[in-house]
Amino acid sequence: MKTFKPLNLMNDKGFWPEKVAIVDALKEVLTLGKCRSPMPVRDYGRYRDQEWRGQDDELVPYRSVDWYVYDALDERRMQVNSERILESFASEPWRNEDMLGDHYDLFIMEEDMFSPSENGEPEREYVVGKAQRLTAAVISTHRIDHIWGMPYSYLKTEVMRQLCFMFGVPDLGRDDVTLEGNSPRCRNVCILRPARDAPEDWERLTRDRLVHGPLCDDCTIDLRAFFDKADRQND
Ligand SMILES: [Zn+2]
Repeated sequence: MKTFKPLNLMNDKGFWPEKVAIVDALKEVLTLGKCRSPMPVRDYGRYRDQEWRGQDDELVPYRSVDWYVYDALDERRMQVNSERILESFASEPWRNEDMLGDHYDLFIMEEDMFSPSENGEPEREYVVGKAQRLTAAVISTHRIDHIWGMPYSYLKTEVMRQLCFMFGVPDLGRDDVTLEGNSPRCRNVCILRPARDAPEDWERLTRDRLVHGPLCDDCTIDLRAFFDKADRQND
């Protein structure tokens, strides 16, 4: 499967000072992975196509970040269904070769998100981030934009995590890797460890990131292997 492809950034938060954390996180992941030829990054901001509203003012599918959120919104819980929104990004028409073609999507939203029970995985009352391998990642800032927390640092930690998960790090074949639901997680002192309780776990991971560095040695090796493969596809 192709690993060198453009990365599209989107958010539905409008202007917010912590946005710079996204770019800083991406730069650090590229540096850690010793990426030689970075994938093209396109920032769509608060994406809204010119025809994002239909004649009756309804949201037109796939033409705004508003639609992705609204379509995946569970109206009873008033939370976004993580599987459904990832599925929208994975199956969007923009992925056709005569449109944008294959790419990564990273979407940051302010709405709260939950994970439904699926494939034997139990429901999670809330999740901060979720990634689909080599396709898309979605992050909700709802639980980490905490008034007493460090929004920039927590967001940077989570963007770095979800980028790594989207790039297939950690590799499930390792013996220091565990599963959180269906997703591989690292067991070392590393930001790719499981994280559940917000904001506490993000505080812990961020402290570890600043003190010990973001990734353990094995995850660094996996990330470099990913970029090595991507670089070779681009050569
Ligand atoms: Zn690790």
